Amino acid sequence: MNNAEIIAKGQKYCLNVFNRLPIAMVRGEGSYVFDADGNKYLDFVSGIAVNALGHAHPYVAAALAEQAAQLIHSSNLYWIEPQVRLAEVLVENSAFDKVFFGNSGAEANEGALKLARKYAVYKGRPERQQVITMQSSFHGRTLATLTATGQAKMHQGFEPLAAGFTYVPFNDWEALQAAVNEQTCAIMLEPVQGEGGVFPADPEYLRQIRRLCDERDVVLIYDEVQTGLGRTGKLFAYQHAGVAPDIMTLAKALGGGAPIGAFLSTDKVAAAFKPGDHGSTFGGNPLVCAAGLAVMKIMLEQDIPGRAAMLGEYLRGKLTELQAKYPCIKEIRGQGLLLGVQLDRPGADVVQACLRRGVLLNCTAGTVLRLIPPLNVSHAEADEFMAVLDAALQEVLQ
Ligand SMILES: *Cc1c(COP(=O)(O)O)cnc(C)c1O
Repeated sequence: MNNAEIIAKGQKYCLNVFNRLPIAMVRGEGSYVFDADGNKYLDFVSGIAVNALGHAHPYVAAALAEQAAQLIHSSNLYWIEPQVRLAEVLVENSAFDKVFFGNSGAEANEGALKLARKYAVYKGRPERQQVITMQSSFHGRTLATLTATGQAKMHQGFEPLAAGFTYVPFNDWEALQAAVNEQTCAIMLEPVQGEGGVFPADPEYLRQIRRLCDERDVVLIYDEVQTGLGRTGKLFAYQHAGVAPDIMTLAKALGGGAPIGAFLSTDKVAAAFKPGDHGSTFGGNPLVCAAGLAVMKIMLEQDIPGRAAMLGEYLRGKLTELQAKYPCIKEIRGQGLLLGVQLDRPGADVVQACLRRGVLLNCTAGTVLRLIPPLNVSHAEADEFMAVLDAALQEVLQ
């Protein structure tokens, strides 16, 4: 099938909820993808920060093929070797003690929210049901994570929402302090807001929140679905500020494209969950965990977070040079290879102009170009991207 045929069939049979560009990807290799008409694209979206090791990474592909031939699924009625090994790798390389695997970012966040609520009950404080989240955050599309998401436009039409959520402005310590009370169960945030427009949390703000949560025994949840696993230049974004949350959620990059999510907890908080409190049919199945193990092996052995830090600095420098040339660029934000270019106008035309030149780029929050390339992108590919972005801005501004 070519692009047009795939699109026609999709419009007839698939639920119309995505604003899709009119191409269908059929193959990938490293930092490049190819559509059904044979066009080649440099991928600076990488499946929305999922393909952190690029496309068709041979080690990940081989691990999936091998596991598929061995055992795809057996259920959590029995122990699963790839699952326990992946849990070990995550725990031994983080500040957490226990892992639960689900199938997506939203599910990871649902589990984290359930654990925080249960922790309050376990500590004899069942009145603590309020979860404080941030304005312009993004936590997923299920009812509870949609409610946790601090964006009114996503809530509209889905009321009644889940009970017990309060929102405060991001990076506003005074507002957060004022919002915490005897009903507060948990505080949940992204260390760098991704979908909301690439806004990093101030490290001092994160340390203040940690102290507050310690003093009041409030559960601190970091949603690292997008920031986790090298994206920000460290294995986990919490490491930048030197304080860890009680619960951290992961998903996007964890399976190298295989659908897997996870939440990690300290033993202190995890003790609130007893057998039967949570579960998943597919969660942590052998196939996706084999992919996760392969991703983690490459990530750690090849210091992919370090590479992301280096390439992030390189791109930031190039973007700053570009800013001098185009006053429509108001700000460069972000950490590692999660970079946001704040424009003074909508970014959709720039995305289109890049697409016509064979580069995939994402625009989020309307006016922010979000750069989320594979973490092993090369300097040459970064240069190729910058040349195309320059030409695209030139065209759009004419
Ligand atoms: C993508 C994302 C989610 C949702 O993940 P899904 O796999 O789409 O459910 C949640 N939180 C953050 C920070 C994300 O970037």
